[in-house]
Amino acid sequence: MNLVHHALGSFGTNVYVLADDETSEAMIVDPGADCDRLAEDMEQAGLTLKYIVVTHGHGDHVGAVATVKNRLGGQFVAHRGDADQIATPSPWIIEMMPGFVDPPEIDIYIEDGDVLNLGTLEIQAIHTPGHTPGSTCYLHQDVVFTGDTLFHGTIGRYDLPGGDGEQEVASIKSRLLTLPSQTRVLPGHGPQSTIEQEARTNPHLQ
Ligand SMILES: [Zn+2]
Ligand SMILES: [Zn+2]
Repeated sequence: MNLVHHALGSFGTNVYVLADDETSEAMIVDPGADCDRLAEDMEQAGLTLKYIVVTHGHGDHVGAVATVKNRLGGQFVAHRGDADQIATPSPWIIEMMPGFVDPPEIDIYIEDGDVLNLGTLEIQAIHTPGHTPGSTCYLHQDVVFTGDTLFHGTIGRYDLPGGDGEQEVASIKSRLLTLPSQTRVLPGHGPQSTIEQEARTNPHLQ
């Protein structure tokens, strides 16, 4: 497995690329902004982009899906719960993101428990509503992409349309803190963490 990470755009969204070494099949997680250079690098590395996955529908996570897809192809994967906000992005977020491009149609509506395959790699979807209705984390072995649901030392805001704080905490406690404690948390913004560290020290989860 090959995993690379960049923080891009005016919101510093973490964009991750996960690739299978044997087949060079890849997926990109949350191409929110400024992905032209990254797409070029992926093309030059000979990666076949199979999936463009978003953890949720906010503009800072979907603003470069179209850019990436136009260049590299791949199927756009999102949860149905966020389909409306993907189709109709918030005007304020577009205003703050000069490079925002309207996302394309969703190709695959992901459901809780679905598995995406990259060569021999398996990536499992975990539906964690709360930050948005469709927020979904993606687990591959000892790595979980948590979007804006769980961060290093905090949790995602739940005051935006469709947000629900109690549901968010319940999702994290029942679906994420139950993962093996060494699991690495790769959030949508900011530094990495582990499940163990968040279970022990995250003030929102005590
Ligand atoms: Zn968000
Ligand atoms: Zn975000």
